[in-house]
Amino acid sequence: MRVQFWGVRGSIAVSGERFVQMGGNTTCVVLEHEGHHLILDGGTGLKAFGDSLHGKPITATLVFTHVHWDHIQGLPFFGPAFHPGSQISVRGVSRDGWHFKDILSLQMAPPTFPVRLNILVGLREIEDFNTSAPLDCGPFRVWSIEQAHPDGVVVYRVEAGGRSVVFATDVEHGGVPVSDAFVEFCRGCDLLIHDAQYTAEEYAGQAGPPRKGWGHCMWTEAVEVARRAQVGRLALFHHDPGRADEAVLAIEREAQALFAGSFAAREGQVVDLAAAP
Ligand SMILES: [Zn+2]
Ligand SMILES: [Zn+2]
Repeated sequence: MRVQFWGVRGSIAVSGERFVQMGGNTTCVVLEHEGHHLILDGGTGLKAFGDSLHGKPITATLVFTHVHWDHIQGLPFFGPAFHPGSQISVRGVSRDGWHFKDILSLQMAPPTFPVRLNILVGLREIEDFNTSAPLDCGPFRVWSIEQAHPDGVVVYRVEAGGRSVVFATDVEHGGVPVSDAFVEFCRGCDLLIHDAQYTAEEYAGQAGPPRKGWGHCMWTEAVEVARRAQVGRLALFHHDPGRADEAVLAIEREAQALFAGSFAAREGQVVDLAAAP
């Protein structure tokens, strides 16, 4: 399974020389195995992934963790979604009696946006994700678990070719020991992609306002999960939009001292998970 990061930034896209190394696009990760694509989230990084296909259609499944702006804003600019040759299945959880398709439609309606969702002819189906059973799409099997976040979030565990990736963005563990249930969900995965938006000082309010209840983690909590769940590698993800490259690199060094398999996810980075023997 091949994993590529197309957007690693949290909350809002950023640009400028302070963000060149990590990248400024918001969340989008693409998994590829045996020619099939599974796209996790459609932040502004999704546009960059679409552009990389140079006008070609795609057969893919696109799964959303939740519908905060930084996770959906790339969809109306995702070129392959406009291509009549594309076969894209979309999944996300329903909320408050709303089907996922109706929720997604809300971002694409006048007067805040001129293009409606039904123009995207490459999106063949937009269905609710059933969290009570795994989803099979191509060679991928996808499990899910709900976690604490304002308006809710779903964490996914994807398995293919004997390898596994957990995508845990926008989760808040709350500064207390991470729940056993969550650690078990992540147990033994080859790659854990985990929210790491804050430092302990930021979360506690010693550097700006307290961030408790904002829906994100301290990077130390991501390390705690990686160690307890004995994962292969840890990708620190959803970098704070105010965090310049040097500061992310400093966090990366500290994390590596605590868990050797840690790295800060960078836009464009590829992680190749060879098939299990
Ligand atoms: Zn987010
Ligand atoms: Zn969010």
